Amino acid sequence: MNPTATRPLPTTHALTSAQYSGQDCTWCGAPLWRGGAPAGRARGQIGAHVVAVPVFQCQPGTGCESIAHRAMETNH
Ligand SMILES: [Zn+2]
Repeated sequence: MNPTATRPLPTTHALTSAQYSGQDCTWCGAPLWRGGAPAGRARGQIGAHVVAVPVFQCQPGTGCESIAHRAMETNH
């Protein structure tokens, strides 16, 4: 499964510094203590340079990828 096919990645401008450096999930901002799963490359532009930064997301079963989290969101 290619995660980039299901959700468009944010641009680098929308990322926090922690997301930019792969320490936080690019979708929910949760810290990736155990390492993240590759989420693809966020594209952006720094000055005249186009950049593509590898970003990461929660591992399956944790953070925004956990079933419990999704169930909580639907209970709002
Ligand atoms: Zn997440």
